[in-house]
This record gives sequence, C-alpha cells and structure tokens, in this order.
Amino acid sequence: MMRLAFGLVLALLSAGVGPALAQDPGTLDKKPLPPLVHPDSPSTPAKELFGRKTEPVPLAARSIGFYSSGCLAGAVALPINGPTWQVMRLSRNRNWGHPTLIGFLERLAESAKKVGWNGLLVGDMSQPRGGPMLTGHASHQVGLDADIWLTPMPDRKLSAEEREFMSAVNMVAEDRRDVESKVWTHTRTELIRTAAQDADVERIFVNAAIKKALCREAGPDRSWLAKVRPWWGHDYHFHVRIRCPADNPDCHGQPPPAEGEGCGSELNWWFSDGVLHPPPSAPPKRTTPLAALPPACRQVLVAP
Ligand SMILES: [Zn+2]
Repeated sequence: MMRLAFGLVLALLSAGVGPALAQDPGTLDKKPLPPLVHPDSPSTPAKELFGRKTEPVPLAARSIGFYSSGCLAGAVALPINGPTWQVMRLSRNRNWGHPTLIGFLERLAESAKKVGWNGLLVGDMSQPRGGPMLTGHASHQVGLDADIWLTPMPDRKLSAEEREFMSAVNMVAEDRRDVESKVWTHTRTELIRTAAQDADVERIFVNAAIKKALCREAGPDRSWLAKVRPWWGHDYHFHVRIRCPADNPDCHGQPPPAEGEGCGSELNWWFSDGVLHPPPSAPPKRTTPLAALPPACRQVLVAP
C-alpha cells in the first residue's frame, strides 16, 4: 500500500494535473492585477509574472518545457464562438494554445457533432504566454492542455454572464463509485472516444468513476482506453493533453501510456476508502520561481 501510494505521488508529480477547478465561477468585473513591487526578485513566483501577461508573444509557435513546468510562445486564441463550440469563463483569458491544440479542438468540435454531441463548451486552456497560473491547474503551462465540459453546448449563443457563472453538470454519483445514471449518457463515451482516437492526443484525464463507465461502454474496439487515465477531480469535464509538436524540440512530452486498457482491477485502488474519502489537507502552495522553468521561458516573459 505504501509503495502504491508513493507511486501515485510520483505519478501525480509527473503528470502535473492538479485538482480540477473548472466549476469556479468567473467574474463580469475583472480588475487588472496590481503591479508587482519586486518583479525581478529571484523569489517572485513565476505564476505572478505569467499571470500578468495579457498578450501572446508574436513569435513562431513553440511549446517549451513540460505540461506542468513550461511556457508558450506564439500562442493562438481559440475564437470564443465557433460553429460547434463556445469558450467559457472568458474573464480568465485562458483560451490560448499552440496551433496544434487549436486545430485539435476545431476538429473535435466538428466530429463530436457526428456522434450526437451538440458542440463543445471549452474551459481552461493556457494563458497568453502559458506558464504557471495564479489559480487552478498545475499543468496547462505549454499550450497543449484543454478542459472540455461534459455538458453539451446549447443551441444558442451563451451570454457573457452565463459564460462566467453557469456550472457544468457533475457526472459522478454521490458515493463516487460510478457515474450518476440520471445524467450520464452513452454519447459522452462516444465524445471521449472520439477525442482519444485523435492521433495528436497523448492523454485524457477523467474521474475514475467516468473511466469505469468508459470501460463498461467501450464495446469491441478498446484500444483507445489506454490513453484515458483516471485522475482526481474531473467530475465535470475531461482534460485533453496533446502531444508535443514534432518541430518543438524544447517541448517534453510524456512516455506512452502503460500497456492495457486500465480497466478492471487497475481501477480498484481509486475506489478504496482512503482515496474516495481522503483526510482533509491544505492545498499545495506553488511558489515556483522563474529560474525553475526552462531558460527560454525568461525570453517568452520579457518579450514585448
Ligand atoms: Zn485541465
């Protein structure tokens, strides 16, 4: 048990996916952050620096570093309204990504329609220059991660207010051992399958209860299940992680997922009492300084 727990802590660190906070409301009254008193101090957390950048660096697109320790040059914004998607929580200004991620989201939004999903509600991607964030995620730093709500896009354009305050629907049952049958539908399996089958996708993170449902509903072609990994949180959305683009040598991806579907007994640990009902603990304080990120991230930060 100790070894398992230790392995999990390692996996947590290496996967770089923090607890998912997609259901935090936004605001219609966003105030600019106050300037930093000592922006050049080596102890200034990198999140304070990257969190203050409101525009991308107009350079060639480049993901630098690892999903939970890096940054992004040449980011592109996902348009807030597409034919089959809408961006949520606009006040966060996190609809930025590497063009590979933008291309994937546009492709998924279209193919999702074909499996009966009305369109995507897109949550957090990355900040304009990537990097650590003041709130939420440990990852999403290199422009290759995106959160997609498990609530379909409605047939109308959402108002500014709805985009800040509307909540997605929790897919996990109250006992956390399976999906909630009153809200879960097979179309959600088809949607996640469609995303997982995309060649650009490296991993997908979902709640273990959702993985359990996917295992049950996958049908004969189960090859895509290996990419879909159980993780804490992710009750309301799934998290898609794109592979490092081939021409971005400073981008460090994850090794291929372990062999097998990750169904059956491998899932049991997630439903053990200690995991379902962990003792309360303080959230980790993230104070990573700029020097801990890849050196190229300094240029991304200081570029005009
Ligand atoms: Zn995420």
